[in-house]
Amino acid sequence: MQRITILGATGSIGVSTLDVIARHPDRYSVHALSAHGRVQELAAQCQQFRPARAVVGSAAAADQLAALLRAMNVDTQVEWGEAALCAIASAPEVDSVMAAIVGAAGLAPTLAAAQAGKKVLLANKEALVMSGQLFMDAVQESGATLLPIDSEHNAIFQCLPTSYRRVPDAAGVTKILLTASGGPFLKRAVESLDAVTPDEACKHPKWVMGRKISVDSATMMNKGLEVIEAHWLFGAPADRIEVVIHPQSVIHSMVSYNDGSVLAELGNPDMRTPIAHALAYPERIPSGVAQLDLTQVGTLQFEKPDFARFPCLALAFDALRAGGTAPALLNAANEVAVQAFLDERIGFRQIDRVIAAVMDELPHGAASSIEAVMAQDALARACAHRVIATLPPLAVAGAA
Ligand code: NAD
Ligand code: MG
Repeated sequence: MQRITILGATGSIGVSTLDVIARHPDRYSVHALSAHGRVQELAAQCQQFRPARAVVGSAAAADQLAALLRAMNVDTQVEWGEAALCAIASAPEVDSVMAAIVGAAGLAPTLAAAQAGKKVLLANKEALVMSGQLFMDAVQESGATLLPIDSEHNAIFQCLPTSYRRVPDAAGVTKILLTASGGPFLKRAVESLDAVTPDEACKHPKWVMGRKISVDSATMMNKGLEVIEAHWLFGAPADRIEVVIHPQSVIHSMVSYNDGSVLAELGNPDMRTPIAHALAYPERIPSGVAQLDLTQVGTLQFEKPDFARFPCLALAFDALRAGGTAPALLNAANEVAVQAFLDERIGFRQIDRVIAAVMDELPHGAASSIEAVMAQDALARACAHRVIATLPPLAVAGAA
């Protein structure tokens, strides 16, 4: 029996994880669940999965959850705040932690799970983008097992030989081919992107996801963050990672070898496949995802990404090459800009401009400690807010 903590249980990944777990009550039990605000949903999850502990974002949310659970006769212990998140991620009775909080808020508990030597199922790519080497060192030192949930990285993990993890140079890997759907605006006239609404940006053609990652997919910053994620997970330099647009999202990524072989992982676009893969690894379990029928898919297409249409992708490659805290600055500026876009305070095409302005203004430093990374994160957020405040009002009005 594997005992699991799910950080971000009410999100898109959290709900898919509970869906897989519910199919295998003989294999998995839930130790703890967390959510930021959605207390009603969390209460319903507690009623179904009976975790020992549940963590929310504020004292008010904790009171509300405790009252709901009392009324349901559920004896889950309720806590709140970052220290409680770290505690449920590192508790001795936990075997595996699903890290599915969105954004930098997930760094501390995800790192706590890694430091405690857990099996870490990593969906929260921002945590790894920010902390990079520090995170990988924590995994190494504690003997934690790090399994990627991001569909691309899970596919790459499946296509790499196990020997690669010990001696990357000897495995004959020449390139990691990271596939990207291209998002909802792949073919739309670039000028028309000034006027797109948050709902249009969140309407992903292939995947149903949280709003932040959906906007990231529309700008292709998601792919940029994934390039950095692949760098850390697989020890691949920037010039060995190639982004390939593949609108059908049937191939989830590929690995090419020096003998000319290219290995791919294929499947229907449903996150329950990588979640089930990581939960059961190295075994396999049913996930609830329908088998892929290639005759129904018919055609698979591929093209090169257009860096002029998607400046965020170029900014992410730049940050990876710059190293140090540059990816943390990029991530923080992006989080602020995406939230401003979702709140209709800036236009879609201003997202990349805000990030570029922050990257221009702030010098990056050495990522010598988590404290240094968090300090740069805070600086970048303040800088992004300043940049947003100085944007021309006409452009802001045009976005609303
Ligand atoms: P989501 O917005 O649907 O859910 C986010 C979860 O995090 C919720 O449970 C929310 O309560 C919690 N949360 C939000 N802010 C928080 C805070 N400040 N403190 C603590 N908890 C907080 O997001 P999602 O789509 O499930 O994505 C989660 C993570 O997984 C992201 O890092 C995303 O990049 C990654 N990911 C998602 C998908 C997908 O298909 N949704 C695919 C690959 C990777
Ligand atoms: Mg992905």
